[in-house]
Amino acid sequence: MTTSNPKEIVEQILQARWHSTISGKAQTYVGQFFDAFTLRQGVYAKVQGNHGIYRVSIFPGNKNVSATCSCYIGKSGYCHHCEALAHAFLLYPETFTAIPKYTMADVSAATTPERIHSVVRSLALAAVIEELEQNNMNLKGIAVSMGVSEQKIRSLIKKERQQGIIDDLTPLKLACVWLLQKFGSRGA
Ligand SMILES: [Zn+2]
Repeated sequence: MTTSNPKEIVEQILQARWHSTISGKAQTYVGQFFDAFTLRQGVYAKVQGNHGIYRVSIFPGNKNVSATCSCYIGKSGYCHHCEALAHAFLLYPETFTAIPKYTMADVSAATTPERIHSVVRSLALAAVIEELEQNNMNLKGIAVSMGVSEQKIRSLIKKERQQGIIDDLTPLKLACVWLLQKFGSRGA
């Protein structure tokens, strides 16, 4: 994709899926988002819905802009939470923390649990696995170390590509970082 910033990403999806005038259903959620951040051109936030807290995301997909929400109708991002997120970002961009592109060096430098979490959360599983592969650890070795199948890791990478940041993957990424520091010939 040629688009390069979160604002353009959000404008694109708004134009493709919704109206510039916000729907009444979505309106109630604008201003309700929390844990809101931008990362690698994507826009992420959580919102309290009718059945719990939902993670709402808009990010560059493989071909077009993708969106997803953890509510029961939001997998493909056509729910009013996603519509609300698009409007919320355009209206209140300052409430979204811009998370920088962290690297493995930032992981090594992180000393507090909070810092480790925010750095590791921002890394893509695909990127961490790739880094391991460049450091003499193949996918089979990674899978065996973690007691999962290679297929499982591949499916998680695919899921990440479809959904953007997945908080459930943070522990797995942390395990990859540990492997990298232990076995990485170039160091982490
Ligand atoms: Zn939703």
